Amino acid sequence: MDRFGKYVKELFEWNEDMKKFLGSDKVDKNFALWEKLDNFTDLMESISTPLSDTELLNLQSEAETIHEEMEEYFNRKQELGVIWIAESVVPPGSHTLPDLPYPYNALEPYISEEIMKVHHDKHHYSYVEGLNKAELRMVEAREKSDFSLVKHWSRELAFHGSGHYLHTIFWENMGPRGEERPKRRLEKEIKSYFGSYEAFKKHFSEAAIQVEGSGWVLLVWSPRSRHLEIVQSEKHSGQALWDTIPILVLDVWEHAYYLQYKNNRAAYVENWWKIVNWSNVEMRFEKAVELKWNSF
Ligand code: FE
Repeated sequence: MDRFGKYVKELFEWNEDMKKFLGSDKVDKNFALWEKLDNFTDLMESISTPLSDTELLNLQSEAETIHEEMEEYFNRKQELGVIWIAESVVPPGSHTLPDLPYPYNALEPYISEEIMKVHHDKHHYSYVEGLNKAELRMVEAREKSDFSLVKHWSRELAFHGSGHYLHTIFWENMGPRGEERPKRRLEKEIKSYFGSYEAFKKHFSEAAIQVEGSGWVLLVWSPRSRHLEIVQSEKHSGQALWDTIPILVLDVWEHAYYLQYKNNRAAYVENWWKIVNWSNVEMRFEKAVELKWNSF
């Protein structure tokens, strides 16, 4: 093998690997980048061996440019907090119980193995089953165009869906090696909004202690106000499906239609479809699909 043969061979393999990776359905499509890699293949295939110095320099600078672009692509995705591995779609009725990210006894002495077993295997699992059932019933309702039970199944979907999504976050929010306090950007954000970490912690704890009956307390990020907030949730949801992003909403409070439609909400709903700004909905959708969590 000539003196640069090995280098070119490695480049070639790297290039092929990157193409395979970008082309796989596990990753966001980036056709521009893929095309560059493909052109690079052509370039490598067209050169003769042994390489002249000019050819080698050319190849090297081209490889560096592509390498930088690939790196920038991945860094940007990670910096944005966008998980760039594309997760598979979960079809209706196909949610699964995620494994605990650590053993059942890993949180002892703070949370016992016994609690973790029952909580994860029984309670969380029942939400997964409940969500699957509600989704399938909704599919059936749409197929038959029979929405007589839509109120019931919407409630079930929100209750079990929020139960499933929140528990999935909950397990991952904890770990055997607890950390004293948040770091980096989150720490700054907490300080700037709540005054101090201590003030945040007190607020969060009090909110948790004072949830009416069963429920949750959540630290949330509002993309609208661009600040954090603490909210209580009675039961799982109060009919909302947590960990989802609203794309299209319709206000059916009486104040939204009563002056004009009196009690004929159906007429208001029917007419409302004529004024939906789908470009706006599309824009919200485009932003929302950028955010990806592991699917379960
Ligand atoms: Fe629970």
